[in-house]
Amino acid sequence: MNKFEQLGLGEELLSAIEDMGFETPSEVQEKAIPILLANDTDMVALAQTGTGKTAAFGFPLIQKIDSGDKTTQGLILSPTRELCLQITNELKNYAKYVKGLRVVAIYGGASITEQAKEVKRGAQIIVATPGRMQDMINRNMVNISHIDYCILDEADEMLNMGFYEDISSILSHTPSEKNTWLFSATMPREVASIAKKFMSHPEEITVGTKNSGTDTVQHEYYLVNGRDRYLALKRLADANPDIFSVVFCRTKRDTQSVAEKLIEDGYNAAALHGDLSQNQRDMVMKSFRNRQIQMLVATDVAARGIDVDDITHVINYQLPDEVETYNHRSGRTGRAGKSGISMVILAKSELRKIKAIEKIIKKQFDAKKVPGSMEICEIQLYHLANKIKNTEINEEVNHYLPAINDVLRDIDRDELIKKMVSVEFGRFFNYYKNAKDLNVNAGSQRERNQGAADIPQEGSVRYFINIGERDGYDWRTLKDFLRANVEELGRDDIYRVDVKDSFSFFNTDAAFTDIILGIFTDFKMDGRFVNIEISQNPGGGGGRRNRGRNRGKSFSSDRGGFGKKGKKGKNRKW
Ligand code: ADP
Ligand code: MG
Repeated sequence: MNKFEQLGLGEELLSAIEDMGFETPSEVQEKAIPILLANDTDMVALAQTGTGKTAAFGFPLIQKIDSGDKTTQGLILSPTRELCLQITNELKNYAKYVKGLRVVAIYGGASITEQAKEVKRGAQIIVATPGRMQDMINRNMVNISHIDYCILDEADEMLNMGFYEDISSILSHTPSEKNTWLFSATMPREVASIAKKFMSHPEEITVGTKNSGTDTVQHEYYLVNGRDRYLALKRLADANPDIFSVVFCRTKRDTQSVAEKLIEDGYNAAALHGDLSQNQRDMVMKSFRNRQIQMLVATDVAARGIDVDDITHVINYQLPDEVETYNHRSGRTGRAGKSGISMVILAKSELRKIKAIEKIIKKQFDAKKVPGSMEICEIQLYHLANKIKNTEINEEVNHYLPAINDVLRDIDRDELIKKMVSVEFGRFFNYYKNAKDLNVNAGSQRERNQGAADIPQEGSVRYFINIGERDGYDWRTLKDFLRANVEELGRDDIYRVDVKDSFSFFNTDAAFTDIILGIFTDFKMDGRFVNIEISQNPGGGGGRRNRGRNRGKSFSSDRGGFGKKGKKGKNRKW
């Protein structure tokens, strides 16, 4: 008797399981299936992504449903269209030997009338996204008033995405005697409250520690200056030539621009975010699955549906705002028993976030160094040699060999190898030969800053900047300008902004000082140096002028002024 049989599964499912090649049940399956088969009970099951939750509810659901009756008996709610389709496919696979069982997917972005037709033909199981489900209920296209089982899959993600209202409204159309099974990777407050409100005495099962990241994932961070994020990303990619990764950015705009830069720089990259049409997103996902894309740059929302098993690296180009979101991100790798690495490109001001994440995932991050140029060149060289060694010979080349041999006749083997490798390797070598070290020390100040010793470590810091009203700024647009250049700064991180005629003052917490001074070293706008320095006048007002690095240009000149808004003339002197 095999392990699945011991759980109480019947012939039809066992044959399908054999076809799929599952040998032993995963932990969540082992725990959930016997309970769900033997009892009519509610259940809350917590298990990380990639632990086989679909089968944990799918097997018992299929076994318990009466396939001879066309009534809709099971409803599965899932956060995204991609997951909805995935679950539907999995269930169809599981049920391939169950005669008469129909599973229908309902999701946005496709014809609602087609989906209604499918439902009408009989669907014992409906797999739906909450939004489209609500729509179809409103239009009387589905009847879920007789269901026996309701499954909330990836409940935490559904609530993250703001589906609370839809879910409670949908559940209000279902009979109260049904059983509700909730599956989730994490158990934030909102999920607990759903469980409390809509379930009675649920059986609880937990796989692994609550809220902990998958064991197969290693967590690393790389401390750099905020403005070096992109360079660091490239190095991480170059140091991992076989990378197959999802790169997470915070906004659609960053997602798009990072992807564009990568493509421009010759990487196999693409963007995935909500401004793309469904069609475009499908195409991107298809290329990703086929490995034509090695770096998929995505927003958190767009990446929710991604279930590609072999992702080697998750790269946090920026950390998410919510700590829980980090868990979802890193869960995209280390799936199906494989190991994976979750990397964070980190600015110093974000170090405390790492501590918060460590508490939640109950694992330590490794502080790693961004690989240096020689290390990358070496990796690339070995990679190239291995690639040559493992390349299958294309017999088509035979025709050309005599001519090629002729050309290369006088070169011996050693020299030939050197030349071949140099052809490919040159690109990396040239790029990296003058590259600087991107690493930042956690403890000490940036050496490059003159007067670094004066920089306060804590409290509030007041700055002087050599642009003011004359340049078209007021306190709001100055804040905007700073935030546009220092991505770490949130709306409330800049305060006490005092815009004078040709210069201004503002404050931030000391945690941002390094980053701000770093970015505004040699900072040029419209050909002019914009200079920020620590103000020696913490009270604000008045102000110190023109001390330090002003490149011999008089930034406080009364004739100065460059137009952010109005152009006040072309030949201003600085
Ligand atoms: P989750 O919903 O927990 O994120 P899935 O149900 O999507 O995980 O399963 C992840 C992958 O593992 C899928 O490719 C699935 O086919 C596979 N899988 C599930 N159960 C088993 C098993 N018992 N043995 C081998 N592979 C399995
Ligand atoms: Mg799942």
